[in-house]
Amino acid sequence: MKPFSLLSGRMTSRALSIWIAFFISLVCVSLILATLWQIKQSANERLASARSAVLNIVRATEQQATDTVRQADNTLRNIAERIETDGLGTAQLERLAQLMKHNVVEVEGLQGLFVYDAQGNWIANSFSQIQVGLNNSDRDYFIWHRDNSSAAVHIGSIVVSRTTGELIVPISRRLNHPDGRFAGVALATVPVAYFQAFFQRMAVDEQGVIFLALVNGDLLARRPTIEKIMTTNLAKGEIFSKYLPVADQGTAIVTSVVDGVERLYAYQRIPGLPLVTAAGLSMQSVYASWWEYVWRSFALTGVMILVLGLLGGLIWRQVQQLMVAEKRLGKAHRELELLARTDGLTGVANRRAFDIALQREWAQAEHRGLGVILLDIDWFKQYNDRYGHLDGDQCLRRMAALLSDQLDADHGLVARYGGEEFVILLPGSDLTQAAAAAERIRAAVAEAQWVHAGSPLGVVSISAGVASTSGLAAGSAMALLQRADGLLYKAKQQGRNRICQG
Ligand code: GH3
Ligand code: MG
Ligand code: MG
Repeated sequence: MKPFSLLSGRMTSRALSIWIAFFISLVCVSLILATLWQIKQSANERLASARSAVLNIVRATEQQATDTVRQADNTLRNIAERIETDGLGTAQLERLAQLMKHNVVEVEGLQGLFVYDAQGNWIANSFSQIQVGLNNSDRDYFIWHRDNSSAAVHIGSIVVSRTTGELIVPISRRLNHPDGRFAGVALATVPVAYFQAFFQRMAVDEQGVIFLALVNGDLLARRPTIEKIMTTNLAKGEIFSKYLPVADQGTAIVTSVVDGVERLYAYQRIPGLPLVTAAGLSMQSVYASWWEYVWRSFALTGVMILVLGLLGGLIWRQVQQLMVAEKRLGKAHRELELLARTDGLTGVANRRAFDIALQREWAQAEHRGLGVILLDIDWFKQYNDRYGHLDGDQCLRRMAALLSDQLDADHGLVARYGGEEFVILLPGSDLTQAAAAAERIRAAVAEAQWVHAGSPLGVVSISAGVASTSGLAAGSAMALLQRADGLLYKAKQQGRNRICQG
């Protein structure tokens, strides 16, 4: 296929069908690529919008946790100050308890406030009844403050409240004697449920998660809540082990160590506090609407490709039929051309073909010479009269075959000139060569011994006139033929079964 045949406007059916197949394939491939690209884009967009959604949730939970802890700590700071200035006399403790009760109502999220002495004994709390004989020296936060002189706020792992039985997050401060010795612990408790209630208000999917944990990985609050919340530690999870050591905040796709669900998480180490919060949307929900889009796109693209394919197939078939028709037409054309050049009776070239060949050869005769043999069957009228016209036809066919056989070696052209006359063109032959060929033919005919009772010889014979450009000074193809015709006439005159050359 010529690449530019499309532009030149001349295209075979084969080229056309290849172009069609190429074009339709190109359109289909482009369509598929465009769809894939759009799908990829839409996946990126989905992920980006999910990422900003989880980041927003984490920002909100971070804010809530910070506010809650800061307010609790402020309250603890006031209590500590008051104790350190007023001391722990009975009257003072009474007033302190009143203040604490008031604070619990005032400060959102607080469940209770407690003060323990250096031995862990309950000495004041925000509840109405004073529990006597209770001791909290076994609590982790108590031990931590006792053994650690830090004045910073301490947030402990979840414990079960000894007053209400609820799960609580303990927020505590160390109390010091004026000389700095350990004087006890002030404790504020925030129910796990308080954080969880806030998490419930956030927009995450059914499989989504929000949690608050200590930096050591101890879980403090979680949506959805889990039974083993008190003993769950996330330190081995990817957020704690892989991402937080590198960055205080970020997003990551992580499979949860708690429930095995793969989620897009946003995580945040809360500045200034030993807390980490994170929110995660399940990848399933992130991509739920995207999958719908994928299927829709595939279906649409599929339908378009199908339609294109059908259309292409239709055109292809038409072109194939056109190709078959073209082929048939070509064959018919060639057959017709052959017929137009062939003599119907004998199968050799006809007069028309001979005329064309003569013109063509004449044009080159000047360089290489051209011989002509005009030959005529002797006494053929008598042959017809004696054997009938059909046998006469048969004789003509045999003669044509013999001439063709004889001529193979000379690369000439045999044509039926008319009636029982034949003409032979011998390109490149001079008179001698042409006469030799004519004589050979005459001898072959004589040798064939085709019975002809109407001839004085008793067999079919021919007479021939042989002319050549080598014997002709100048002139035309017509003159050459006339010369041969004249010589044929002479051969007849001289008694037939002979050739005359000149
Ligand atoms: P000569 O050439 O020897 O002078 O004698 P002739 O009998 O061959 O002379 P003429 O040219 O007058 O006769 C030619 C005959 O050829 C006349 C015609 O009946 C016959 N003829 C011409 N075409 C055909 C043909 O297609 N089939 C048959 N069977 N005969 C044909
Ligand atoms: Mg004749
Ligand atoms: Mg004759």
